[in-house]
Amino acid sequence: MKNLISDPLKFASLVAHQLKEPVSSISTILQTLLGEFAGPVTPKQKDLLQRAIGRCNESLLAAQRLLTIAKSISEPRAFRGEVELAALVCKSTLASSRQAYPHNIVLVTKIDVEPAWAVGSEATITEVLEALLSNAIKYTPDNGRIEVFLLYDSTIDAYQIRIADSGVGISEENREKVFQPFYRTPGAHASSRPGTGLGLAFVRAMVEAAGGNVHVEKSYLGGAELVVNLKAVSKVTAEQIISGDQKMKKPMKVVIIGGVAAGPKVAAKINRLDPDADVTIVEKGRLLSYAGCGLPYYISGTVKEQSELMSSPAGVVRDPIFFQQVKNVHIMNQTEALEINRSKKQVRVRHLLDGTESLLDYDKLVLATGAEPIIPNIEGIKLGNIFTLHGVTDAEGIKAALDRGKARDVVIVGGGLIGIEMTEALVKKGCRVTIIEKLPQIFRLLDAEMAMLVENQLELHGVRVLTDTKVKRFQGQDNVESVLTDKGTFPADLVIVAIGNRPNVTLAEQAGLEIGSTGAIKVNPKMQTSDEDIYAAGDCVESVELITKKPFYIPLGSTANKQGRVAAVNICGGNDTFTPILGTIACKVFNYNVAITGLTERAAKQAGFNVVTVLVPAPDREHFVPGAQLLMLKLVVDEKSRKLLGAQAIGPGNTDKRIDVAAVVITSQMTVEQMANLDLCYAPPYAPVIDNIITAANVARNKLDGLMNGIAPLELWQLMQEKIDLVLLDVRTPAEYHQSRLADSTLIPLASLRARFAELDRNKPIVAFCNYSLRAYEAAFILKKEGFENVKVLDGGLEMWPFEKLQ
Ligand code: FAD
Repeated sequence: MKNLISDPLKFASLVAHQLKEPVSSISTILQTLLGEFAGPVTPKQKDLLQRAIGRCNESLLAAQRLLTIAKSISEPRAFRGEVELAALVCKSTLASSRQAYPHNIVLVTKIDVEPAWAVGSEATITEVLEALLSNAIKYTPDNGRIEVFLLYDSTIDAYQIRIADSGVGISEENREKVFQPFYRTPGAHASSRPGTGLGLAFVRAMVEAAGGNVHVEKSYLGGAELVVNLKAVSKVTAEQIISGDQKMKKPMKVVIIGGVAAGPKVAAKINRLDPDADVTIVEKGRLLSYAGCGLPYYISGTVKEQSELMSSPAGVVRDPIFFQQVKNVHIMNQTEALEINRSKKQVRVRHLLDGTESLLDYDKLVLATGAEPIIPNIEGIKLGNIFTLHGVTDAEGIKAALDRGKARDVVIVGGGLIGIEMTEALVKKGCRVTIIEKLPQIFRLLDAEMAMLVENQLELHGVRVLTDTKVKRFQGQDNVESVLTDKGTFPADLVIVAIGNRPNVTLAEQAGLEIGSTGAIKVNPKMQTSDEDIYAAGDCVESVELITKKPFYIPLGSTANKQGRVAAVNICGGNDTFTPILGTIACKVFNYNVAITGLTERAAKQAGFNVVTVLVPAPDREHFVPGAQLLMLKLVVDEKSRKLLGAQAIGPGNTDKRIDVAAVVITSQMTVEQMANLDLCYAPPYAPVIDNIITAANVARNKLDGLMNGIAPLELWQLMQEKIDLVLLDVRTPAEYHQSRLADSTLIPLASLRARFAELDRNKPIVAFCNYSLRAYEAAFILKKEGFENVKVLDGGLEMWPFEKLQ
């Protein structure tokens, strides 16, 4: 017994052995209680029981580990097999990353030799690695760094595992003492973090049992560096091992810069196509793979937790550990790529937490550097509470300002997609919002009359929309207080600047890669830049517009993901292409759904097309079905080829389905005839018997065939402003007329039109209208038949009339 106690390792193993049985019995009793076999338990008691069972399981695991260790020491021969260290180092580092992540500790692995067969057993060397990593994490302060190296030392024909940390370090006089059983360094008392509890004495015993040795040095990172030497199995030099490895197929090294949408997509797809690939994502920020598009919903509170933006549909958070463990992708977040050396195929990176720099080798490099918000050079832009909205940090800033309860008046500079999405979020938070747009309309992805209808919708929800207005100065002491424009001064406790995004091409430019005419990186259909080993995807690249075949820059999450997939397939030796795009997009504006694809009328005309346009308002399903909602469609059709060029849909109805159909129509280059014959689904709860998009195609056909002579709302408005003498013929019922009407209009209901021709001046142009233009279309036929020559129908009727109506 005396002998046993003087050998603490043997003693510990005996204790472990003795404890196994009682702990396991306690666990069984606790589980009996938890299962309510001994009577009901309260939720609080359940919680306590579960925790107690958890601790029992931990103890049993620790006992089991101790016994393994003890066995390896008492029977070293049995444990002197062969173990492949490279795989073990990767596995153990991955396992430890979950422990390091909450403390923001960067864990880097660098393997110089692979495979690295050494003397030892998998069980004991795993214990050694986990104990050393756990130790390093325990003594490394938050935001620190741990580097794990696997090298071959030819002078001693041994593999060396070095675990260096930026922690508290071990003074020279204590470096041997730490291997004594039960010795604790002074730093141990300062650390509140748990370790494995298996001390360095065990580590040394296990390493020595395998015929190796272990010692401590001072780490170049500032803390301690534990060095383990394990004998190589056969006398081979590191060079030989590497060249042997190369013959076996050296894993492809892929470095991806940017970790939000395009970057993680590339990584995930590569992992599926080539599981051996060595993929690293370098990301400046802390978070990865979050849904930037969901930020407005996070700010409004519709999305409650930030983590929901980073979760898969199954609720798994896509954090660095998820990427390392599930996707086998090495993550270097809070690390900035500074420079690309194309001739050496290296990227220089800086670890932002400690300022250290390192070089990453690559076989293939992917630029997924995204875009950054344009910040205007306006006086006062640096005042507090002025934000852009690009990433989670911006969103947190806005949320914090709102939560402080100070932001009542908010000015949004820029009436584009992001500005408008933010408007709804801020109104939901109880803010008074003013949108300031320097162009004559908001939402330039829409044509003017459609944008005006959206503007009306915003105003209906209390939003002030100022178009044709320029910001001159942001005013205030420390924080912004008001915004001075050429149309007056507006109070502002918070300002969101959303005037557009600029592709992030600094690295590409520095590397001499070709930049396209839009200012974004030029890529071929395989997503290769002008360097065939460097790919690019997402908001940093330019696309090609499908109809005009011209370079096109539209930063969209959908496009970024698709491009990322194509890049990955080609990197892995496949042959995939990213084809030109339409820029199809949807956006929610209060109870309006806005969806757009292809060219607007404005863009089509600029591209040299002669176009016919139609505006078609109608319920999105049978009007007698509960839930039927107004859907307002605009089609832009090429007069010559009769092909669809673009479509826009707004309203509370289901717009995205129609616009997705339109996107397919344009992509397949269908004429409006082919479009009108599409076999789309029908049942009253889903669509009218002739779907809205098919009706719109038919209206376009009627116009192209001269069966319908329409006039666009903007054109009629212009004529009205010029006081052109015309008849505004309202063919609705008197009841409808009294509800709302156009100024100076003449009411002759359709039913009485034939009897009242005499009331109409045959020499004046007539514009017939009703709510949806169906009755007006009938009226125009009747009038033409009666010899009225100049009769037009108001496109879109009163439903899509964006100007004032008399009530
Ligand atoms: P980014 O998301 O910009 O990511 C690039 C990453 O690269 C950044 O995290 C950056 O830190 C990192 N990086 C850059 N340079 C370096 C460097 N040198 N070193 C290391 N890291 C670097 N799209 C839609 O399709 N539909 C929508 O409804 C929609 N709504 C949106 C709403 C909002 C509020 C916002 C902000 C965007 C929205 N988008 C939408 C656009 C969509 O979010 C982007 O198109 C998408 O995020 C682009 O992904 P990306 O990976 O190319 O670039």
